[in-house]
Amino acid sequence: MFSSNLLALTSLLAVAVQATPLDESWLQPRDSPVHALFSKRAPSPDDPNFASNYPAAGSTPGSDKLPQAWIDKLNSINLPNVSVSNPNNGYPTYADGETPSDQHICSFTYECVTDDDLHDAPSGIFALSFDDGPSNVSPDLYAFLATNNISTAATHFMIGGNILYDPKGMQAAVNAGGHIAVHTWSHQYTTTLSNEGVLGELGWTMQIISDLNGGRIPRYWRPPYGDVDNRVRAIAKQVFGLETVVWNTDSADWAIGGDPSYTHDGVVSQVNQWLTGSKDKGLVLLEHESKQTTVDVFKAIFPSIISNGWTIKNVADAFSMDWYVNSGKTNTEAITTMSVGSGPNTLAVTNSSSSQSSASASASASVSGSITSAAVSASTTSAGAAQSSGTGVNTAANAAQSSNPASSASQKAIPGYIVAGLGLFAALLF
Ligand SMILES: [Zn+2]
Repeated sequence: MFSSNLLALTSLLAVAVQATPLDESWLQPRDSPVHALFSKRAPSPDDPNFASNYPAAGSTPGSDKLPQAWIDKLNSINLPNVSVSNPNNGYPTYADGETPSDQHICSFTYECVTDDDLHDAPSGIFALSFDDGPSNVSPDLYAFLATNNISTAATHFMIGGNILYDPKGMQAAVNAGGHIAVHTWSHQYTTTLSNEGVLGELGWTMQIISDLNGGRIPRYWRPPYGDVDNRVRAIAKQVFGLETVVWNTDSADWAIGGDPSYTHDGVVSQVNQWLTGSKDKGLVLLEHESKQTTVDVFKAIFPSIISNGWTIKNVADAFSMDWYVNSGKTNTEAITTMSVGSGPNTLAVTNSSSSQSSASASASASVSGSITSAAVSASTTSAGAAQSSGTGVNTAANAAQSSNPASSASQKAIPGYIVAGLGLFAALLF
């Protein structure tokens, strides 16, 4: 079912992107690099054995559940020298007392973001997303989105295990035109997981989403609790081509019903204050489709989003990027053949020729300008810090959710292992 013959990719240098009609019997073009990482199949949610196609929900898939192609790809890349963190009640700590906000670790829990992170939306844009679905309150949310004609303007960061329980819940979002993205298989603190653990959490969620959406491979993921560092970013990007999406404002909707200092009215009031503020920097607001209280917060703030002149877009559209690795904008566009060729740490193959390396280098260089504008990396240190301290979003709220220390350090770190411009190109690959 899984091809491990990654060496076949060596012959696919610089294949042009080419639209092909959706073929339900073979959901990816046979020569696509994605073929090597994900099986082509479409198990029916009506099949009583649907769940048997996947690892169990609720825990990190074991190493015995990892397709060899994923392991081979992982072994072919260079990871930054960042150790597995210790959970420490949501304050991840690292070996030798290293500082998590240092650029070589760049933990978002400690408010470090990289140029590649999708963090601040463009001016005037409200990037709409909901985490933790599908759940029993998703139908209520989807009905509200449909009533207000914004079903296609929402990104749903879904948990693979939740999809396993409720595949038709995910398909409801797809059929409504929503954008589907990855929120891991079992919602762990990803920096505490081994490389193989991260592989399983991301890969299996991508597989089940792909299976239920015509073979479209997700392009975006959001780390649970915002817990991500450069090791996890590298696995997400270099193995799977995933863009890491965090947030610049936390609605704290998740805290209602848990922390008594967070009430519906209080959360809505705080969000409304942000909505009436400056639109110079767009919003990437953390919201959830996990409980009725979280859905009710969105229903309450929606009129203010409109009345204050924000433009609502899903995460991909907010950053003017395609929705999926191998398809365009919507859940119905044709799946495309991948371009092949990359910078040094991206391509699956390890036996690439010198001519390929040369061609790859120039190809990466040619897109370096576009990635700068496409990624809209407006997450400057001062702006990010100002928003955090001015609004309290990344301090009190995160402290309650993930014990996020209100670190004063907020760097825009550029990991040395990520070649400038590689991001967009890598996303075209896997
Ligand atoms: Zn979550």
